[in-house]
Amino acid sequence: MTIRHVAIIGLGLLGGSIGLAVKARSPQIVTTGYDRSAAVRAEAAARGLVGTVHDTPEAAVEGADLVILCVPVGAMEDAARAIAPGLKADAIISDVGSSKQAVAEALARALPGHTIIPAHPVAGTEQSGPQAGFATLFAGRWCIITPPEGAHAAAVETLADFWRALGSKIELMDASHHDLVLAVTSHIPHLIAYTIVGTASDLEDVTESEVIKYSAGGFRDFTRIAASDPVMWRDVFLTNKTAVLEMLGRFTEDLTALQRAIRSGDGDTLFDLFTRTRAIRRQVIEQGQDDERPDFGREHGA
Ligand code: NAP
Repeated sequence: MTIRHVAIIGLGLLGGSIGLAVKARSPQIVTTGYDRSAAVRAEAAARGLVGTVHDTPEAAVEGADLVILCVPVGAMEDAARAIAPGLKADAIISDVGSSKQAVAEALARALPGHTIIPAHPVAGTEQSGPQAGFATLFAGRWCIITPPEGAHAAAVETLADFWRALGSKIELMDASHHDLVLAVTSHIPHLIAYTIVGTASDLEDVTESEVIKYSAGGFRDFTRIAASDPVMWRDVFLTNKTAVLEMLGRFTEDLTALQRAIRSGDGDTLFDLFTRTRAIRRQVIEQGQDDERPDFGREHGA
């Protein structure tokens, strides 16, 4: 199967980045797009995120070989129902949602009989909206494809090739395993960041100006994550409830053990853990998942 035309529904950070990446790396593919917000459609057209921005979802998907839903996970089912009247019978329907089991179920309900191959490019920033997209977002990043049982191998390979052309590395995974892995690598870290920034802003005996002034002590890195899109993250926690609660249980137990170690002056436990976690940071850098420059590559004094 060859993708000649891709339609993108939702023209924010992810949708816009896909459009720009296709333009840069697979210019032979026609791109069309739709967003429910007229202001986003206007901005997407002005930035040239896709070749043609349409005013209705049916028109945007007409003739498309591949349709990628790039809306918050809670909006996937509505967005899928809205494209149904315009879809080609043999089109591949995919998405970029951060949780996979709930999205796969929603898409199967909305588009029975269609070829649905969900996916999650593990690439993003704390920015959102049509101004936030950029063509290199997926370069060197993993895209996890979660084919449902009985999915056509050719359709999975076509989708994998599409993402490889945008610079992604491909991993195939069962949707429930994806949700567990991402709960610990992405969803819980976001929850911790939201909690710690929330706790700091609620403190009564430390002023807000002190929190901001001394934020370079570690807090600053949490504020970047905690600035992520509230709609997207609300939906992630509501749709990946089981895996998040399971991992949160484990995390709480480990936190309690550390609390005990601090209270009892057990420095060995603290030292052993901090040594182990430092080695994990080294592996993250060695595998190209982050920057090895000091202070995450930030300009000092900037
Ligand atoms: P975004 O920048 O907020 O873009 C989403 C766009 O979809 C918005 O313009 C939104 O319009 C529009 N939309 C909402 N419901 C719609 C509908 N029913 N039909 C058409 N358009 C609709 O969000 P994003 O960061 O690109 O995230 C999109 C998806 O990517 C989410 O599922 C998220 O889980 C996933 N993802 C995000 C990241 C990341 O780091 N941000 C990384 C990987 C995957 P309104 O503003 O009017 O609601």
